[in-house]
Amino acid sequence: MKLPFAESYKIKAVEQIHRSTREERIRWIEEAKYNLFNLRSEQVFIDLLTDSGTGAMSDKQWAALMTGDESYAGSSSYYKLKDAIEDITGFPYYLPTHQGRAAENVLFSAMIKKGDVVPGNSHFDTTKGHIEFRGAHAIDCTIDEAFHTELEHPFKGNVDLDKLETVLKKYPKGQIPLIMVTITCNSSGGQPVSIENMRAVKKLADQYGIPVFFDSARFAENAYFIKMREPAYKHKPIREIVREMFACADGMTMSSKKDAIVNMGGFIGFRDKALYEKASTFNIMFEGFINYGGMSGRDMNALAQGLYEGTEFDYLETRIAQVAYLGKQLRDYGIPVQYPFGGHAIFIDAKRFLPGLPKEQFVAQTLGVELFIEGGVRGVEIGTLLADRDPDTRENRYPQLELLRLAIPRRVYTNNHMDYVAASVINVFDRRNKITKGLKILKEAPILRHFTVELARI
Ligand SMILES: *Cc1c(COP(=O)(O)O)cnc(C)c1O
Repeated sequence: MKLPFAESYKIKAVEQIHRSTREERIRWIEEAKYNLFNLRSEQVFIDLLTDSGTGAMSDKQWAALMTGDESYAGSSSYYKLKDAIEDITGFPYYLPTHQGRAAENVLFSAMIKKGDVVPGNSHFDTTKGHIEFRGAHAIDCTIDEAFHTELEHPFKGNVDLDKLETVLKKYPKGQIPLIMVTITCNSSGGQPVSIENMRAVKKLADQYGIPVFFDSARFAENAYFIKMREPAYKHKPIREIVREMFACADGMTMSSKKDAIVNMGGFIGFRDKALYEKASTFNIMFEGFINYGGMSGRDMNALAQGLYEGTEFDYLETRIAQVAYLGKQLRDYGIPVQYPFGGHAIFIDAKRFLPGLPKEQFVAQTLGVELFIEGGVRGVEIGTLLADRDPDTRENRYPQLELLRLAIPRRVYTNNHMDYVAASVINVFDRRNKITKGLKILKEAPILRHFTVELARI
């Protein structure tokens, strides 16, 4: 008999989660003004809001906390993390930051000025925010295949080289401070970028003299997909693939809350000493002295250990198999989900799930509310609420895709929990014809409204 797949870890500490009744959930979500961010975590049975900072640290990471060195300058934890980053990514210089967006803030302060353009593949929202905040523009050069949820393509995160070259030709070199490639591409559904594409981007960028940076939150999951889907890499160890990936970049920003499996943290990696020195000044201003930059010594220790654990093949296989385990159950039942499955989440196509609901009634949010009522499962809307209003016309922006994202925290839930989530989604799907009314906005903030918006049933 072929031995079945099983998780590559066992459980040492547990945390209780709470079941609830349908009546309680109906009341709680009404009190939360139909905003999933307003729920208390105790009201949620299975929390798939995000995979960011929600992972379970290992015994070795918890042990590493105890040996953290909290010296202001020159701490051993800073050097331990330096060695880990150089070993895993190859970047000889780094700056610690408190999370990923802080890394963007520091790096962009050193590189981006008003009027610049930053091409890339569906920039993450905080990345785009930090670019636009400086009066610059993010230009999306993702391949068109990324926007068709059912289309088979192994690397839907890839950069379209023609689109990129058009941008490089159109703007003078002085107006393009960097190219930002996101691995995996979160905004297009956790879809990977191939190493072939990374090499081609780097080659093109070199021709035009533009540096390439990787937004690397899920770099290890990207490496796993390369191993699985790019034939030449089938027999290469993950860490070797990771080194080859980063060889195509001049630097990186990192949200360590994702693939480094810590609850808070980030960093910037550099190849160029002069840029590192320039960015150091901003790190000191915004984050803290360059030897800790917003992190405690103990947190740097846990992060150094997490970088090694996050790039182990067995761990990655367990993680990505679990995401696919949930995705397959939904797809087999005929529920419209983005395919192939991404590395960290399953994305339900809400417009195809609830085709009768008008787009003005916040289709993915309505689906998120129904899923919470059904089973106490919390996902997150990636749709019209998130897309916000046009800054000039103040009209709602209706994105091409209206998605409910179910993000799976790392090493937190078992496959029984995934079965429970699948059953909850299936029950909502079975009664989808009865969901004929959506939601309307009662109150919203001028920007980033999705976090605090108040809604009511129509
Ligand atoms: C999470 C994320 C960020 C921002 O990182 P934070 O740690 O949340 O500030 C940037 N880019 C990508 C691709 C991300 O997934």
